[in-house]
Amino acid sequence: MNSYEDWFAYDTYRPHQKEMLDFAAECVNKQQTCLIDAPTGSGKSSVLSALLAQANGRNIIVAVRTVAQLNIFIRELELIKRKQPRLKVSYLVGKRKMCMMGGEGDVYRMCEGLKTFSTSLMRERAQKGSLIPANDAVIKKQIQLQDYEHPLLCQYFIRSKIYAETGDGLKMMPSNVLKTKAEQTTRRIVPPDKIHELCGDICPYEVMLQASRDADVILMNFHHLFNEDIREQMYQSIGIEPDNVILLIDEAHNCGDTVQSIQTVTLNEQSLELAQSELGHLRGSVSGTEAIQNLIPQVLNFMVSLKRSMKAEDWFDPAIFMRYILSGTLYQKTEEIVEDLLTINEAIHEAKLEKGDFRESAVEKLTEFFVRILKSAGDESYLTIYKKSGEEISLEVRNIDPSKTLIDLAKAHHSAVLISGTLSPVDAYKKIYFGDMDAATISLPNAFPKENRKLFCARDATSAFSMRRDIENSNRIIEYINTFATQKGNLAVYFPSYDMLKTFTERLPKTLKGKEIFIESQDSSASTNDLRTFMSLPSVGRSGIIFGVCGGKWSEGLDYRGDLLNGAIVVGLPLAPFNDVRKMVNDYFRMKFGKDGEFLSYTLPAVNKATQALGRVIRTPEDKGVLLLIESRYLDESVKRGLPKWMQDECVECTIDSFKEAMKRS
Ligand code: SF4
Repeated sequence: MNSYEDWFAYDTYRPHQKEMLDFAAECVNKQQTCLIDAPTGSGKSSVLSALLAQANGRNIIVAVRTVAQLNIFIRELELIKRKQPRLKVSYLVGKRKMCMMGGEGDVYRMCEGLKTFSTSLMRERAQKGSLIPANDAVIKKQIQLQDYEHPLLCQYFIRSKIYAETGDGLKMMPSNVLKTKAEQTTRRIVPPDKIHELCGDICPYEVMLQASRDADVILMNFHHLFNEDIREQMYQSIGIEPDNVILLIDEAHNCGDTVQSIQTVTLNEQSLELAQSELGHLRGSVSGTEAIQNLIPQVLNFMVSLKRSMKAEDWFDPAIFMRYILSGTLYQKTEEIVEDLLTINEAIHEAKLEKGDFRESAVEKLTEFFVRILKSAGDESYLTIYKKSGEEISLEVRNIDPSKTLIDLAKAHHSAVLISGTLSPVDAYKKIYFGDMDAATISLPNAFPKENRKLFCARDATSAFSMRRDIENSNRIIEYINTFATQKGNLAVYFPSYDMLKTFTERLPKTLKGKEIFIESQDSSASTNDLRTFMSLPSVGRSGIIFGVCGGKWSEGLDYRGDLLNGAIVVGLPLAPFNDVRKMVNDYFRMKFGKDGEFLSYTLPAVNKATQALGRVIRTPEDKGVLLLIESRYLDESVKRGLPKWMQDECVECTIDSFKEAMKRS
């Protein structure tokens, strides 16, 4: 084995860090998949040094969920580059952040359209001998004349390409300026907020794609990796084969949810009406249009029949749905519907491209829905669901089990390392993500000083549904919050849902024990502004208390270091609402894993959300804080086993009286 010492960016190792690096290096060496549960402070981004030592010319792809995480890896790689200056690094973040063209609609679709038109014009001019499109007078003129609201050409792409005569005829190549900029970014890593400045009038995404062709390490967001279409296209563009790639998936506790959301398709009444209108414009010019026009009322009637339902969501039988749809049309089989939809969709797509309209068409949504229904027939990892909101009905084909995708992904690559600060119990995640597949696991202890944290769990309060109307229970939760608010500095209180957040914060005064109050809004920009104000308070000698939601914008992925947060409460167990659909999901996992199934699919994600929320407080070895779980169920073995080992060991059972005493002493 090569030594990771040559790639390790620091002078000393943190506690257990060597253990983690040895483990990761061995897994890559054995071409294995592994899961690493590495609590905050383990120095988990340094795992890259172990992967680099074992790379032997293979690419390393690091998948991250947010730009903040991307920046953490960029910082790590900058440090590694001081030791290994020849290391080449690039990144691919969403085109929405990179694209210079702006405009409405799906940026991937728009980009595809603009590149198709640009390429066709560039080729036409190259055939006439004009090999440098950026200098071609005709192309320049066309760019000048185009309607900027509905462009057909992308000047940033055009400047990134040239043509060359080869033995196989004319070939499109990267322009010199593209190559130079790509080289500059791999030589010294240019972070996403500086990339536009460096690229000037060349497309930043093309620059980073070009840089990726030559890079040893490519950082990318979850969508680039987990969306099969994007991944295949991207691997092809940068010329890499999955079996020559070592994967490092950060914040791996989130990858199941990401896969499920990518593979879920929803259809509502409004999109069906829009699809009908789009089909009307085709006026029978594409075969199958009329038949699909006749089919849409059938789907709408099916939805109308569900309006009588008293449930907010429930399963519908896909076989009954298809029989109902087919009975009112000339179609015999679902496959025929899908075939017609694909043809029509192609025609609409082309027509929209020609008009410079890059929004997703409603027919495309309908096509995706039927394709997914067809694919999921007989596949129990998909459920067909209807959802009712007021008088609105939507139909959904929902993925409930990401393991098939994750197993395929892991097997296709040389090796895969999944890492997270909250991947415990790690064997449970191995089971839910990879079933019986061979995968190694390791769980590291919490490396921060034990004396800096105090963890309590209330045995006299709960958010259990049966107790929600119990006044005494609610008053006790409020008493816990009031007692906790006497602690110095910024504090956080997280609830299991927005409904509960609303109930408990409705009557709050503007301040609590002298602290300013901030309540998490479902509106993203309002919550970002509030959070900014909250975080600025300690610097001016004031403090506040945020009231948020587990799994919300204020409880995950944020680093409240030092004085930014001195304590947190999680009220309740943030379980997904229990209804007939949830019961089916639990039954599916019980069939798959026996009695452990419900814990894996239902309890564990809830405990993970709570752990994530409490995990915001202690981010460095110097941070101190009080953590409180107001929920007696965490004391039951069946729930407690989902907590990280250090929490299980250190948790002090309390009542409101003993908690008050403890707070007086602290
Ligand atoms: S080539 Fe680049 S700038 Fe042009 S549309 Fe695509 S992402 Fe945007």
